[in-house]
Amino acid sequence: MSVRIIPIVNQLATRVADLAAPPLPVTGLLSDTLARPLRDLRISVTDRCNFRCSYCMPSEVFNKDYAFLPQTSLLSFEEIARLARIFVAHGVEKIRLTGGEPLLRKNLEVLIEMLARMTTVSGKPLDITLTTNASLLAKKAQSLKDAGLQRVTVSLDAMDDAIFRKMNDVDFPVADVLRGIEVANKVGLLPIKINMVVKRGTNDQEILPMARHFRHSGNVLRFIEYMDVGATNGWRMDEVLPSAQVIERLHAHFPVATIDANYLGETAERWRYADGGGEIGVISSVTQAFCSDCNRARLSTEGRLFLCLFASQGHDLRALLRGNFSDEQISSAVGNIWHKRDDRYSELRAALPADTQIGDGKKRVEMSYIGG
Ligand code: SAM
Repeated sequence: MSVRIIPIVNQLATRVADLAAPPLPVTGLLSDTLARPLRDLRISVTDRCNFRCSYCMPSEVFNKDYAFLPQTSLLSFEEIARLARIFVAHGVEKIRLTGGEPLLRKNLEVLIEMLARMTTVSGKPLDITLTTNASLLAKKAQSLKDAGLQRVTVSLDAMDDAIFRKMNDVDFPVADVLRGIEVANKVGLLPIKINMVVKRGTNDQEILPMARHFRHSGNVLRFIEYMDVGATNGWRMDEVLPSAQVIERLHAHFPVATIDANYLGETAERWRYADGGGEIGVISSVTQAFCSDCNRARLSTEGRLFLCLFASQGHDLRALLRGNFSDEQISSAVGNIWHKRDDRYSELRAALPADTQIGDGKKRVEMSYIGG
């Protein structure tokens, strides 16, 4: 079947244009062209990962010949903290550290300590969380907690060891992830969320075993629709299992009911087990676009700001950090970038026939580069 490619319009402005824009005062009330505030900043601290999940970093592409970023390209912790302060002044209340695998970044606790000292515009502590494959979590949970990390999200795609080892493609066992989750629970990195990417025909038979395992655990299991991020995972719509079907399958075994969102812009739709078994969530990025209240910005490992998970270009903030620019100038640039934001990729795609791609799929940024 032929795939229709529709170029993304309004590609991102250049650094020069952003600095040339009228100075934008810091009010903490920044919003974009669709009246969406800036609340959530995801910071990728490394583009490297020790897993090779086929839906994210397929080993055929991310192999020994792949050019990962050199150390000098990465933002230092001081640079990240400087930008974080600027974003927080514009209204960011939550920071998620991600990657790649964020726990591969040496001394990450130092960055967490810096972030933990910041407060939001309304004077509350910043909500600091981290997404991890948990391979190093058992070892690091205590030091992360001590540094000021509040909670973690762990990715786990199956309870069945053979399926999981095959999906992570580095033969990593389920037991070690579960051990990481256990230690994170013990040290109080709560509430813990468990993300399962559901790929039809690959791990959809694991929905019930995962539900069974995490019911009554206090941890919130969330089922994520397999997304067409990046350009290397060979995404196909027929491998997406719509969240509605995930809920149907669950409901047949463990009756569930919806619960209200915690806050506007929450990615997961919340459900609870009717028998008091706890909460679950579904993230329907493919079948139910949630662009209209997307309040997330993403900062890549080398300091490029992305306004949408499906973007193909970012704004180079590292050039500003390493140039001779003041905090006020960088703040104004960030403010102007967000102010002009009009991205709504998933909504546009949802309005088109199933196999239509928007933009140049080859150029779309990889999830491992900007973080999930
Ligand atoms: N290494 C960390 C981890 O495993 O959680 C953080 C980075 S990973 C890119 C963040 C999240 O993105 C994970 O939960 C992962 O499962 C999810 N993810 C990656 N590619 C995806 C895709 N194509 N569709 C849906 N979720 C995806």
